Amino acid sequence: MKPALTRRHFLNAAPAAGAALGAVRLPAADGKPALLGGTPVRKAPFPSWPVIDKTEEKALQGVLQSRKWYRGGGQEVNRFEEAYARLTGARHCLATANGTSALLVSLAALGVGPGDEVILPPYTFVATVNVVLALHALPVFVDTDLETFQIDPRKVDDAITERTAAIMPVHIGGSAADLDSILALARKRRIPVVEDACQAHLGEWKNRKLGAWTETGCFSFQASKNLNSGEGGAILTSSDDLIEKCYAYHNNSRGRKITGYNFNYSASGLNLRMTEFQAALLLAQMTRVEKQTRTRTQNATYLTSLLSEIPGIKPARMYPGCNVNAYHLYMFRYDKEQFAQLPRAKFLKALAAEGIPASGGYAPLNKEPFLKNTLSSRGYQAVYSKQRLARWQERNQCPVNDRLCNEAVWLTQNMLLGPRGDMDQVAEAVEKIRKHAAQLARA
Ligand SMILES: *Cc1c(COP(=O)(O)O)cnc(C)c1O
Repeated sequence: MKPALTRRHFLNAAPAAGAALGAVRLPAADGKPALLGGTPVRKAPFPSWPVIDKTEEKALQGVLQSRKWYRGGGQEVNRFEEAYARLTGARHCLATANGTSALLVSLAALGVGPGDEVILPPYTFVATVNVVLALHALPVFVDTDLETFQIDPRKVDDAITERTAAIMPVHIGGSAADLDSILALARKRRIPVVEDACQAHLGEWKNRKLGAWTETGCFSFQASKNLNSGEGGAILTSSDDLIEKCYAYHNNSRGRKITGYNFNYSASGLNLRMTEFQAALLLAQMTRVEKQTRTRTQNATYLTSLLSEIPGIKPARMYPGCNVNAYHLYMFRYDKEQFAQLPRAKFLKALAAEGIPASGGYAPLNKEPFLKNTLSSRGYQAVYSKQRLARWQERNQCPVNDRLCNEAVWLTQNMLLGPRGDMDQVAEAVEKIRKHAAQLARA
């Protein structure tokens, strides 16, 4: 198939997304690739992250001068929890030290422990699996949906056993996992769901915020995330019971009513509290987060309409229920067949040379050696039978995810915060590389 023909055909068909946005036209992209000595499409850096002004300075100074740096003494963490619950429409919010602890506290509060299984996708940050291992439970990976990059909802049922203690879908990149399918299944099988919404601030499924749909939803405010306090996390829940369990667990098993020199405990726990500094910084950053989310959505939607016209570039699809994608990452698949067999690594290098930094994203998490090492540790050997671990090994196959890890390309969220013309430059760089792919492949 001749790519040029395909493209003309597509343009003649007047793509609906393009029509809605007005004239969507790919930039000419005629110049020589920068990697071959041509002029880069772009020389200016993309918007830097985080965005700050006097608001942050005043917030941090306020906490500093108050001398109340711990949530037990100050009001900032309480204020943040109220504000984040309001912003997301959740009944309760608990702030935590980071996203990893939000996930850990959630699973611990649900009673997940040794012998249990937790279902999760392999296309995620390592923290999603680390919390399962920290509780000595067994992570059960369900393969990825190639089109959406999310956990494949059609394959979850098959992974459920009588030991499944939780399902942990991840809204990867800020787009939504198929919550309707996952929730229907979980309700039927009576299994709690913990949303890993660490990349999905203000994303929505059917007009309700991601993270506010299930038993608990977890967020990260680590430096790269769309809402940032360097480190930080939060748990959302509608359950009056779970929020108290979460609170106690994150506070060394001391419930809300236990203060001062009362050293009686009813369960185990850890100290995973957020500081007053983090909360004050988050409240300041929250003055911009809605506008930033809208800007990312507008730019990303436009970029999708441009990239969809380039043969071999397949932007990650969204499930119909996802009405707001948080775009922590802009993700697409790269098909080298349409780029004269130019390897992805070289494509990324050529993109960087054009002034468009991009990455190839995650490696297959379910194949990481640390998993096998952990499962052969003394603790795991004591809890799980040889047969059970052998069966885990046998079932731990995610061929679609393996493929996705070879084809994915990511742009980071800050690249979506500038003017729309930045998106034209991204598309122009990709198109320029495609036009010269054969030359680049030989070089
Ligand atoms: C960032 C992230 C986490 C962990 O959050 P931290 O705040 O870094 O601990 C967990 N899951 C996903 C999908 C993430 O992106």
